[in-house]
Amino acid sequence: MRQVLTFAIIAIITISCSTNQDDWYQIQQLDKRTYIISEPHSSQRNSSFLIIGEKEAILLDAGTGENGKQSMAQVADSLSPVPVTLLLSHFHFDHIGGASDFRKVGLAALPFLANRLSADSILVLTKTEVLSNDTVSLKIDRLYPVGEAIDLGHRNIELLHTPGHSKASIALIDHEQRYLFTGDLIYNDLLLVNNCEAYLQSINTIYKHSNPDYRIFGSHGTPEVDYAHLAKVKEALTAYLADDDSFDSKKNISFFGTPKQVYQKGDVAFMVGYSDVFDH
Ligand SMILES: [Zn+2]
Repeated sequence: MRQVLTFAIIAIITISCSTNQDDWYQIQQLDKRTYIISEPHSSQRNSSFLIIGEKEAILLDAGTGENGKQSMAQVADSLSPVPVTLLLSHFHFDHIGGASDFRKVGLAALPFLANRLSADSILVLTKTEVLSNDTVSLKIDRLYPVGEAIDLGHRNIELLHTPGHSKASIALIDHEQRYLFTGDLIYNDLLLVNNCEAYLQSINTIYKHSNPDYRIFGSHGTPEVDYAHLAKVKEALTAYLADDDSFDSKKNISFFGTPKQVYQKGDVAFMVGYSDVFDH
């Protein structure tokens, strides 16, 4: 996330979205109803994903909010002919940064989240959940069911609960187009693991709902991830839990001033535990 380990050149259709910070957003069209909106110059090299149906669209993640000149909401609205609802893959600052600009915000109907909604549907996220110095309040307009089809209008997607990076992490699947949007569970850069057992279970959940014909898109760095990367991450985390010595390296780094160990196995790099870094 904060540490970018790999750089790759990707073929992207660049659309100039702004008269100001002209090349902040890069937009890649996967098909006529699906876009990747990337922020390659943002601190975390984030990507958000716009999934458009005939009645409504979902934007997975609000972006970093670091571009003050044009919001992610404006970009999504300019691409979608139908109303856009924001859905967050999880609540970390770099995914929620642009959330306040959205007219509608959805939430996975996970009981531990839905139970926290106030009478007027406000969800207050803690500093630890956001990894920020501030809490964030979201007005939730609708709950999306977990593990069943969500109909966007002649386009169904499925929402899966995939904890491990964070407790509230979700992934979206489009079974017809065979797309998997994995948030911060699987991407090409340094992975931040919070709960290793849950992370492994979530990888199994992804396996259960997909096969190698699916294309995986993660939220940081080069968006598209080889399906085979799932197996490599699974192998690396399994080795970590077994405390075996098969890692290529274990490097000590300073992560926001806190010493952390980065484990490297093949092209998978990960760190376990990160919330403490932001606990001050
Ligand atoms: Zn995150």
